[in-house]
Amino acid sequence: MSSSTIRVRFAPSPTGMFHVGNARSVLFNWVLARQSGGTMMLRIEDTDAARNRPEWVQGILDAMAWLGIGPQEYEGPLFQSDFAQHHREAIERLLALGLAYYCDCSRDQVNARTGSEHKGYDGFCRDRGLPAGDGRAVRFRTPHEGSTVIVDLVRGKPTFDNALIEDFVIARGNGSPVFLLANVVDDMVMGITHVIRAEEHLPNAPKQQLLWEAMGAEPPVWVHAPILVNEKRQKLSKRRDRVALEDFRAEGYLPEAMRNYLMLLGWAPSGDREIVPWDDIVAEFRLEDVNPSPAFFDVKKLRAFNGEYIRGMSVEAFIEACQPWLRSESLPWRAEAYDADAFAAVAELAQTRISVLSEIVPMVDFLFLDEPPADEAAWAKAMKADAAELLAAVVDAFAVAEWRAETLKAALEEIGAERGLKLGKAQAPVRVAVTGRTVGLPLFESLEVLGRERTVARLRAALDRLS
Ligand code: GLU
Repeated sequence: MSSSTIRVRFAPSPTGMFHVGNARSVLFNWVLARQSGGTMMLRIEDTDAARNRPEWVQGILDAMAWLGIGPQEYEGPLFQSDFAQHHREAIERLLALGLAYYCDCSRDQVNARTGSEHKGYDGFCRDRGLPAGDGRAVRFRTPHEGSTVIVDLVRGKPTFDNALIEDFVIARGNGSPVFLLANVVDDMVMGITHVIRAEEHLPNAPKQQLLWEAMGAEPPVWVHAPILVNEKRQKLSKRRDRVALEDFRAEGYLPEAMRNYLMLLGWAPSGDREIVPWDDIVAEFRLEDVNPSPAFFDVKKLRAFNGEYIRGMSVEAFIEACQPWLRSESLPWRAEAYDADAFAAVAELAQTRISVLSEIVPMVDFLFLDEPPADEAAWAKAMKADAAELLAAVVDAFAVAEWRAETLKAALEEIGAERGLKLGKAQAPVRVAVTGRTVGLPLFESLEVLGRERTVARLRAALDRLS
C-alpha cells in the first residue's frame, strides 16, 4: 500500500446513538491512517433532515474522543450539507453526459408495470428524453451489460452483474441528492482513497463505483468490515442487543479494553495473544487479514477483557478511574460519607474482583453507608440457628482484639474452632452482619478499614435483630 497518500474518512450519520459498529469502523479507519502516515477525515452525513439531531453530532465527537481519537487525530468535522453545491454539479454533469435522465414514474406505476414491489426500476423513462420538471427524479443510466468488479481488501474482488443493477435514483423529485450520490461526491471532493465501512453498505458499492467511473474518477479501494452478530448469530440490533457505546461507557468499560476488543472482531494478532497493547495493534493490524464472515460481538468476552485491563492498571490509576462511580449523583450513601482514605485502603483488593467499574459501588458501599445494605436473601442464608450465639462471642472478642486483619481473623478462627466450625462457616454471619452481603472483599481487611466502633455496632444491631 503506498504510504502517505492514503486518505480515509469516517462518515457517520447523526441519527442516533453511537453504535459499537460505528466504533469498529472508525477504529479501522484510524489505524489505517496511522500506520500509513495518511489522513483520516471526519464527515458528518447530516443531510437526512428528518432524522438528524445536533446533539448526536456531539455524541459522535465524544464517543471518538473516549476511544482515544481526539480532534488532533482527524481533519474535520466536515458536514455533508456543506457539499450541496458539489452534489448539484455532479447531478448536472451526469445529466449533461447523458449518464443520467429525468423520470416521472411513481412507485405505484413501476410496481404495476413489473407486477412486483421488489423488481426494481424497469427503465421506462430511460429513453424518453424527459426535460427537467417539477417532481421529476433523476436516475443513473446503469450500463446493462458486463459486470462491476470492486476491489475490497477484506473480500477480494466481489463481482456484480450490471444487468441486476437498476437505474437507481440519484436525485429525488425535489432535487435533493440521495445518499448514494452525496456520499460518492463527498468522497471524491475529499480525495478519499479507501472507503472503510460496515458490510451493510456492500450492496451500495457497485452502484457507487459506477458513479465514480461515470464521473471519470479512480474509484477508491473498498473495505466492508464484517457484520456484527449476537450469540444467536443475528445481526446486532439496537432493539434487541446492547449496542450503544455510551451504555458500555456508563457501566464502566475502559476505552482501552473496548478498542482492543473491537479490533479483534474479524482479526487476530500474531501468536495466541488477545490482550494486546494498542501500539502493537497499530503496528500489526492488516485489513487484508480481516475475516469477512460475521463477527460475534461477545459481551461476556468483552467483560473478561475489561477485567484484565482493570487488573493491569496501577492502583493509583484504578482509584482515579473509579471516582466517577464513587462520586456520582445517584449513590446509595450520603455524598459526605465518602472517605477517600478508606477507599484507598481497599482499592487493591477491589481491583482484582471487579470486571466493570460500576461494580465498585456494591463492593465498597458498606464503608460509606450508615448501616449495611439490607439484603433479606443474604440475611436468611447466613443467619442460621447458631448465629446469635456466635455473634455474641464475636462481639466480646472484637471489643478487645487488636484491630488488625490478622488478629481479627485469629479471633474468629478460635471462636469457630470452639464450635466445630471452619473459618468460612464462622465468617458468614459476621460478613452479612457487617457488609450486608454474602460475598465481597476479604472480610478481615474490610473490618480493619471499617474500624472497631462501626464493626461492633453492626454486630450488635444484628444480634438485636436475631433476639
Ligand atoms: N452515513 C453512512 C453510515 O453511517 C456512511 C456510510 C459510508 O461510510 O460510506 O452508515
